[in-house]
Amino acid sequence: MEKLKISLRLAVMFLLVQVTCVLGQTPEYCLPLRHLKVTSGFGHRVHPVTGNPDFHKGIDLAATSEPVFSIVDGNAIDVGRNAILGNYIKLFRDSIFFIYGHLSHSFVKQGENVVTGQVIALSGATGRTTGEHLHLSIRYGNIYLDPLRFLAELAKVPD
Ligand SMILES: [Zn+2]
Repeated sequence: MEKLKISLRLAVMFLLVQVTCVLGQTPEYCLPLRHLKVTSGFGHRVHPVTGNPDFHKGIDLAATSEPVFSIVDGNAIDVGRNAILGNYIKLFRDSIFFIYGHLSHSFVKQGENVVTGQVIALSGATGRTTGEHLHLSIRYGNIYLDPLRFLAELAKVPD
């Protein structure tokens, strides 16, 4: 019964969010969460867990069991789990990797194609983290980009 309730909740969330994304934004790209609140920015910082100087290769976004969207059409080239990122998804499109970390649940399988705005995961607190949030990295080849700047650039591209 409990399991059914959870699947039902996920299904409703999935529908709600698909609509929100399509109506609220251009179909060319979608923000990774319904609301973006950055809790840790890109670049040099003191690591919140180790306390050591660190280069943050992405951004952390406030999220508590929230649906996570595919930013663009792409392929889920890597879906797995490691000690740092916890449950993660790497999407690939045109030499760019979109890496989502600390997920509680992934809805896509490795190798699956995803469309813009698709709910690919629920955020969580898996891996090395002080609490629930979504980690997002965007990598072009071996270069990590500032995801906020990248999203801002995407927003400027005409349809
Ligand atoms: Zn992070």
